[in-house]
Amino acid sequence: MEQQNAMKVLILGGTSEAAALARLLAGEHRLDALLSLAGATKAPAAQPLPTRIGGFGGSAGLARFLREERFALVVDATHPFATTMSANARAACNQTGVPLIAIRRLAWTPQPGDAWQQVANLEAAIAALGEAPRRVFLTTGRKEVAIARHAPQHHYLIRSVDPPPPETLPPRATVLLSRGPFEVDAERALLREHQIEVVVTKNAGGEATRAKLDAARALGLPVIMVERPPKPRADVEVASAAEAYAWLAAHVTGSLTERGV
Ligand code: NAP
Repeated sequence: MEQQNAMKVLILGGTSEAAALARLLAGEHRLDALLSLAGATKAPAAQPLPTRIGGFGGSAGLARFLREERFALVVDATHPFATTMSANARAACNQTGVPLIAIRRLAWTPQPGDAWQQVANLEAAIAALGEAPRRVFLTTGRKEVAIARHAPQHHYLIRSVDPPPPETLPPRATVLLSRGPFEVDAERALLREHQIEVVVTKNAGGEATRAKLDAARALGLPVIMVERPPKPRADVEVASAAEAYAWLAAHVTGSLTERGV
């Protein structure tokens, strides 16, 4: 139920952090929170907050939306690789004077026993596979799958939530449709079953998809890691949904229900 004086908060989502913050804020009547999703996933998981789906029409469209709907705060809880949305959020908040909080999830760092090659983008990752055909586990999302066509000699096991368009697939490809979180034993079994020789992934960070890195280490497999693009600074930056919730409790209403975070 929405209250008259509840502060309006727009959460830019599409991540496990946004979903976790939505769970923490559900039923929190001092805040009137709206979760925004891009519409990238065909069947997004049900959320416990009011949700809108689809783009705003760039930073100007978002600024208009913030003004018209009288939002008092924006929480950027987008994925570390969703750079356009974060840039738009920064620009729209600058235009409207609405404060911006960002959940910037920590990046993964190599552990003892890891054999990572860190590269700037997926083009460099595919080039780093080399000339000789290899069996590759590719978990960089369906949007950029076509880049693997530059190196058609490799066999790719491609895991994504929704199927990549068939015309974007490299000639030797197996598509595995699956949504995290993933467990290390199952990841190890998957790598073995498909005789994977190298893992290509993006440095998303977070717990939901890190098991493939633990599995690769256990099997002595190399990882080609696409490093993160830079994101603009927010007014407040936290590393998790729990920290965002704690910040909201401390600075916004001062009286959110104690949720043990
Ligand atoms: P992006 O390149 O930063 O954004 C592209 C456009 O999608 C934006 O300009 C915006 O359209 C719209 N958009 C993105 N996030 C939105 C949101 N939360 N609500 C409303 N519109 C949004 O983003 P992306 O990399 O395509 O990712 C799309 C979504 O998937 C994001 O929500 C992101 O958090 C999530 N995601 C991305 C990745 C990844 O690897 N990139 C992985 C997991 C989840 P307008 O300009 O029209 O407003």
